[in-house]
Parts: sequence; structure tokens; C-alpha cells
Amino acid sequence: MATIKLTIDNVAVEVEEGKTVLDAAQSASIYVPALCADPDLKPYGGCRLCIVEIEGRDALPTSCTTAAAEGMVVHTRSERVNEVRRRIVELIRADHDDNCRLCPKNEFCDLQRVTNYVSIEPQETKKLAGITDVDRSHPFIVIDRRRCILCAKCVRVCEEVQGVGALEMVGQGFSAKITAIGDKTLAESTCESCGQCLDRCPAAGIITKIYRLPTEEVKTVCPYCGVGCGIYLGIYGNQLACVRGDKESPVNNGNLCVKGRFGVVDVINDLERLTSPLVRKNGQLVEATWDEAMDVIGSKLASYKGDQFAAISSAKSTNEDNYVVQKLARTVMGTNNIDHCARLCHSPTLAGLITSFGSGAMTNPIGEISEAKCIFAIGTDTTATHPIVGLQVKKAVNRNGAKLIVANPRQIDLCRFASLWLRHRPGTDVALLCGMAWVILDEQLYDRSFIEERCEDFNAFEKSLQSLDIEQVVQITGVARDDIAAAARMYAENSPASILYAMGITQHSHGTDNVLAIANLAMLTGNIGKPSSGVNPLRGQNNVQGACDMGCLPDFYPGYQPVPDPAARQKFEAAWGCSLPSEAGLTISEIFDAAREGKIKALYVIGENPAISEPDSTRVREALEKLEFLVVQDLFLTETGQFADIVLPASTFAERDGTFTNTERRVQRVRRAIEPVGQSRADWQITCQIAKNLGGNGFDYNHPSQIMEEISKLVPSYGGISYERLETGGLQWPCPTPEHPGTPVLHAERFARGKGKFVPVQYRPPLEQPDEEYPLVLTTGRSLYQFHTGTMTRRVGGLNELKGEELVEINPKDATALGIADGGVIRIISRRGQVVARAKVTEVSPEGVIFMSFHFAETATNLLTNPALDPVAKIPELKVCTVRIEEADESELPEPAYEEALF
Ligand code: SF4
Repeated sequence: MATIKLTIDNVAVEVEEGKTVLDAAQSASIYVPALCADPDLKPYGGCRLCIVEIEGRDALPTSCTTAAAEGMVVHTRSERVNEVRRRIVELIRADHDDNCRLCPKNEFCDLQRVTNYVSIEPQETKKLAGITDVDRSHPFIVIDRRRCILCAKCVRVCEEVQGVGALEMVGQGFSAKITAIGDKTLAESTCESCGQCLDRCPAAGIITKIYRLPTEEVKTVCPYCGVGCGIYLGIYGNQLACVRGDKESPVNNGNLCVKGRFGVVDVINDLERLTSPLVRKNGQLVEATWDEAMDVIGSKLASYKGDQFAAISSAKSTNEDNYVVQKLARTVMGTNNIDHCARLCHSPTLAGLITSFGSGAMTNPIGEISEAKCIFAIGTDTTATHPIVGLQVKKAVNRNGAKLIVANPRQIDLCRFASLWLRHRPGTDVALLCGMAWVILDEQLYDRSFIEERCEDFNAFEKSLQSLDIEQVVQITGVARDDIAAAARMYAENSPASILYAMGITQHSHGTDNVLAIANLAMLTGNIGKPSSGVNPLRGQNNVQGACDMGCLPDFYPGYQPVPDPAARQKFEAAWGCSLPSEAGLTISEIFDAAREGKIKALYVIGENPAISEPDSTRVREALEKLEFLVVQDLFLTETGQFADIVLPASTFAERDGTFTNTERRVQRVRRAIEPVGQSRADWQITCQIAKNLGGNGFDYNHPSQIMEEISKLVPSYGGISYERLETGGLQWPCPTPEHPGTPVLHAERFARGKGKFVPVQYRPPLEQPDEEYPLVLTTGRSLYQFHTGTMTRRVGGLNELKGEELVEINPKDATALGIADGGVIRIISRRGQVVARAKVTEVSPEGVIFMSFHFAETATNLLTNPALDPVAKIPELKVCTVRIEEADESELPEPAYEEALF
């Protein structure tokens, strides 16, 4: 791009063509006061504080709306500019509660900074004219019109970044105000509670209710979803006070979703946190010392060595925590029975993408998604489950004109932005994807040279599609032929095109086939190995990628080195100084089956709640009861913990050091912000102590950085990763050497396996089909406001206010046929169990399909779901099972599993 040379305050500055004078000044670190400008927002010129003097021009233009031009000579602080600017600040302050000492933003306020810059003393006066009312209707956010300076930044960020448009500025002069659209309260509006408005507010016109001024801040990573947003934890004493987004983070650029911004502090500070070990005595869990708990664990586990033991690790814990758990299972307990919740979310991604590409991870960075020309979002409700990735999609469409294809049976939020929405039937993804591939082949839209140079087995794939009957695809999917063709053309003709998917693709008895079909489509069009393209599985938990990388899998050592491979086994035997079992272990579902059969007798569960999260959870609860010895390690006493013989108190992410690896393979530092509460300890410390008590060697770490040193020696893709390097930012693996910069885009020159492999796939229907007895399909997913089994988010009062109970989505036609009213109480019955919950009658669910989340233990959706497994990845078919619905009585509605959280 061409560059422009100009002079600002006698400094020579060079910027790209198209940049503004304000951009140019900022690029040269010249401070220009501005209250309404923001790099993520379109130029506005509202506050007029960024005025500058440009030689040869009479007026004082706003620098945020003036394009930098060649040879321009700019003065940002001439006497004339300063005088006008001072008057503007006086006018702003005159229409503002002018009392900094009493303001919650004191010392964090841009208006205060500008006031100091122009050397004005605040007057300590109240706003007398204009609108001064305060909207406190929202659980987290307050609109305080006494302090609002009407810069409209909140309105613009809600529209331009968040794509929600919940706010507007109405009225003029003294009657001007910021309000929710339609002059509603914020609670009544379409607000998604992300708090981007209050983060951008330069004064205190929008603030949070839970604001408390921190005395210190610590940079770390959000503990919820796999996006891995950078955050700062604000600390007051030894308590968390607040959270803000890290503007330097390449993942989120300071943006956060409701859970990251408002859902952390209350969880960490919760009074019900486990603070000491619990040991079961006379049927009751009672407080005990660490020594007592460790003695019991040591003596008990010593008698279950070998395949009578299994461990379930945690995708919420750090890489270092996970590494030592699998090491304990393998080296001390002598078994590969180690698994974690990736089995329930992305095990087909591993199986499918390793087969096709040689690596089972997201191929491209999150930050590139907004530059894609086409985004194909299939099986992902992105704005609910990965909200910050959702912002990238919205930016691609709204700012950069990208085409968005949404394939989802439900009318999810992303459909508002889509060029094309394919409402296929649940479980028919393979048919849809093959149909699109068929069109691309038929219309010669494929990338012949990419296929010839970079791929193999194309002929077999092409042949497999020759017999495809597109009319049959229409019948199976319920999507019109023209729409299938339009999607195929849109994807193939708008390169780079990025595929996003999540558990709508993987949680099927044919989840691996779904992933293979996606990989085929990307290779067919050459949309792999280049920026803003690729196959991008969005990981659910904050460190599910890392837990997989660390080898918490029954068939892989750390770094996906296969257990059955003798060379890999010898490598780890040499490193760990012991012989290792050669047979792959059991997956989570198999562990619970084996426990029910009495084959697994002892189980160590860390940070997981399988009593709620596993399908057909009645069977899981039977398995937990059957165990001879169960150790659960968690923050709270979970539903699973209630079955335990020993419960160990773990510290939270805010109380420990370590690393998380996010969905785009970015290894990031997690930093201790406060001391562990009570006697809680970091997972790695607890696991290492257990290992040492059982006679294990190689568990004498003093700090997690030493564990990372060991990981970097054994896992080639982490070879160049160290705490020292992570101090200056995250690194995307593969990062094989200390000099390597990390790898944003996978498969750029060659696929990880050499050539990309086309794998023919055939459509197989979900294992349960609607019939007379169970005529409806139940599909499951997540809400924006809760997370997984709710063990953390349900402790946050404001989140419960926003989404506090299960609401079963049902299409109006089905509701009418069944005589069900919106809000009515219904019983949902599957072949495995039943639950009672309220109905939400909505067009979001298609006819014949109901939708439930799995956040609410009292209406445990997984009592209903089908445990049938994908034969390759062993993932259960959580996304499709059949049910029937009956009316139920209000009195049958279960009590909330969590007491009303104090707010
Ligand atoms: Fe946290 Fe995910 Fe929300 Fe980011 S998108 S703030 S990582 S929950």
C-alpha cells in the first residue's frame, strides 16, 4: 500500500494511504485528546476535542475525520487549538456531574485525563440541566445520564462492533440522552450484556454495578471458553475486584463477552468454594486435613494400580496440570485409562483432521476470520458459544462485505448476518456437505492445481460422489437444491473462505465423517494453508486444546505421539524412567461402562462433572455409585463430588500460574493474581503429591515453569515454548525451537501429514429416528449466559437473572399441536429418562425439533440424550435423540439446583 509523508508537531510521520491525521499522530506517539474516537469504530468527529491546525487551512478540522495527505503540516497543540479545546472541555464538563472524587471512574476516566491536559480544575458541581435519570434495570450495567457526555461511543460500539444495536441517542440539546432502542430500559432491550459499551465509555455514563476500584491488575486469560480472551484481573486486597479486556490481546483486542467480563469475580470470591479436603466418614463428607486425605488416597490407590484405575482430567485446568495427571496415570498407576471432556466435544476433530491433514487443530488464527471473503459456519451457534469469534464474523460481513453461509437447523443469531441460511435437518450434515462438493465438482469450481500439487486420493473421492443423487440429498436434508448449489458456489467462488464449526458437527454417531466431509470441501476449493481460509473447529472449554496436546487421551502421549507406536513408547519410557503400558486405554464413556461392570474400581476426576455432562447420566450415576474409590478435585462440591470418597479443594485459575492453549493453538500465560482461598491448592501440586505418595518419580516440581520445560523437551510442537518467551505474548504451536516465531497458519507449504488426503464418506442417519412413540428430535447446545454444567456461572447472580432456568425451545406448530403454551410446564421423555421444564415457543426451533441446553442440573438434559458412540472417535450422539412431550403440572417443576446467588 502506498504511504503518505506529513509533519505533525515538527515530527516527520509516514502512514499508509487512507489513514487519518489522528491515526498518523498516534502512530508517532503524539497524544491528541479525543473522547469519541476508537480504532474499532468508524470516524465520528462528535466530541471535537481532536481538532488540529493544518497549515494553509483556516478551520480547525477534527483529526479523526481528516485524511492524512502528502506534505501536510499539522499542529496539534498550537495556542489557537488549545484555546478552543479548553472551551470544548468546559462545555462538556458543564453538562456533566462534575465531581471526580465521588465518581466510580475516578482516575480511570478519559474525560479527567483530557481535563488535566487542558489544565482545567473540576468544579465539583452537579449536572442541573438536561436529563439526569439513571437506568439501573440491568443486572450488570448502569446508564448514568448525570455523567454521560453524549459522545455516542456506546451506541456505536454496540452497533459497529457487537452488531446488536441495542442503544441509540435520542433528542437534542438538553433533551438528548442515551437510551435502549425504543426508549426501553436496558433490561428490556436486546442488550447482550457484553459490556463493550461501558468499556469504551470515556467518562462514567455507562458503568458496571459490580465495579470496585482495583489497587493492582494482573494480566491473564479468561477461564471460560476456548477463545482464550486476554483479561486483566483487578485486585483489591486478596480479592478479585473486577475484570477488563486486554486491548493488546490479538485474540480479543479488549472485547469480552458477558461471561468473561461479569462472570468471573463472583465465582472466585464465592463463599461456597471448597477450602479444605473432605473425607467420607459414616456416609458423610466431612472436613479433613490434607495429610489425612492424602494418606487415604495413597493407601487406597496403591491397591488399584493397572487397568482398575482411570483418571478424568480437566479442560479447565492448565497444560501443566494436565501433563502431570496423564503422567501419574501412565507412570505411577500403570494405565492409559486417561481421558477428558474433549471426548464429548472434539474427538471427531482429532480423528478426522489428523486423517485428512495430519493435525487435528484449528488451522487459522481467530484474528484472520474478519478478512475472509466467505465464511461457512456449520454446526456452530458462534455468537452464543464463542462470542468473540462471533465478533470477527460480524466484522467480516458488516465491515468487509464477506458472504456468510450459515448451516444450522435452528435460527441462530448469526442468521441475521447471513447471505444464505441452510436449515438442514439435525444429523444430515454429511449429506449436505457431499451435496455441496457434488455441485463444486459438477460445475468445475474446484481448485485443480491445489488438488494435484497438495492432495492425494482425489480420484476415489471424485468417484464416490459420481453416484450421489442430489435429489436424494434434498430429501435427506430438507434443503432446496438451489440453496445447496448457491452455498457451493458462494463458498467455492469467494476465496479465501473459512469454515467454522463446533459441536453441531462433532456430537454425532457419524461425527468423524462430518469432519472428514468438511476437510474434503476445504481441499476441493484450495481453501487451506492460506490466511483467512481453513478448517476451524471452535473448541469449547478454555484449555481443551491444551488438555489434548498434553496427552490426556487414552491413545496418545503428549504431542499426539501414539501409544501403540513402539518408538513413541520408548521415547517416553526413557524420559520418565519406567516401563509404560502398550495398550491404548479407555475413553470417558468406556470408563463409565467399565465402572458399571466393576472393571474400573477407582477413579480420579479433576474439574469435571460427568454426573451432569455425560449422556444418559442415569448410567453414569450408577457407575459412580459402583466405584470402590472415587476422588474428585474441584472448586466446589459438584454433583459428581457428592458421590466421592474424597473431595480435594482446587484453587482457581486466578490463584495459580500456568498456561492455557486456546482454540487457535495459542499458548498463553495464566498468572496468579491472588493467594489460594483456604487450603485450596493448584491441581498440579495436588496431583504431584498423590504421585509422590504412591512412590512416583519425577514429580518434584517447584513451579509450573519446570513442568513446561519438561513438556518442551518431549512435545516437538511445544519445543520452543518457555515461560520466558510467553512473558511478551502467546505463541501458536507448532513452535519447535526457541527461535521459532510460532505458526499462525497450518499446512501453508505442505500438510502436516505431507499431502492432504481426500476420504470418501457416505451419509448415515442419526441412530434414533422419530417414530410414533418418540415423534420429536431433541438437539442440545449452550446459552450465551451460562457455561457447561453451570458449576461456575450459576454462582453469578446477574447471569442467573439473564438466564436462570432451562427453557425448552419448541416450534409454534408443534406447541399448538400439543396444546403447549409459551412458559407452560412440560415433561420431556426419551428412551432413557425424563425431565420437567418450561417451554419456550419460538420459531428458532424448526418444526419437529426441540432444543435444550445442558446447564441446569435440576433439569439435566443428559438424562435424555443418546450415549450411542461414533465408532472412530467414541463421541456420544449428544446432538440428536428422539423424545416425546407431555404437559406437566407447575408443582412438578424442580427446585433450582443452586440457591439464588447473592448479587
Ligand atoms: Fe471468555 Fe470465551 Fe467470552 Fe472470551 S468469548 S470472554 S474467552 S467466555
